[in-house]
Amino acid sequence: MATWLCVKQCGACCHLEPAERPELADYLTPEELDLYLSMVGEGGWCVNFDRITRECRIYPNRPRFCRVEADIFDEMYGVEADELNDFAIECCQEQIEGVYGDRSLEMLRFNHAIGMGK
Ligand code: SF4
Ligand code: SF4
Repeated sequence: MATWLCVKQCGACCHLEPAERPELADYLTPEELDLYLSMVGEGGWCVNFDRITRECRIYPNRPRFCRVEADIFDEMYGVEADELNDFAIECCQEQIEGVYGDRSLEMLRFNHAIGMGK
């Protein structure tokens, strides 16, 4: 069975382009939506994302909506803890496909890391 994990130096979910996330207002509070929009920088990338190292510059203090945690996913998306693994895998794959492509090195690395690699 595949087990979700965040692959280092991926950063696909730090591409925040709002046009690609039309349902933001459905799961963010109005304050979070303001914060989210204030973080959108050049090319749709988060202003806190270091494009060279592909790391978050504020990782310990990143907002709630950047965190893959059971209680947060339950609150934001209504995903129960036992569904979190599959849901998070799908979210990452969707995001990686949108940002880097479905045959990208990032997708291969992700699938390999979670145990779906061939
Ligand atoms: S898309 Fe997934 S694997 Fe990539 S940085 Fe975000 S959480 Fe990590
Ligand atoms: S705050 Fe950090 S984790 Fe959240 S989108 Fe920006 S760079 Fe990514």
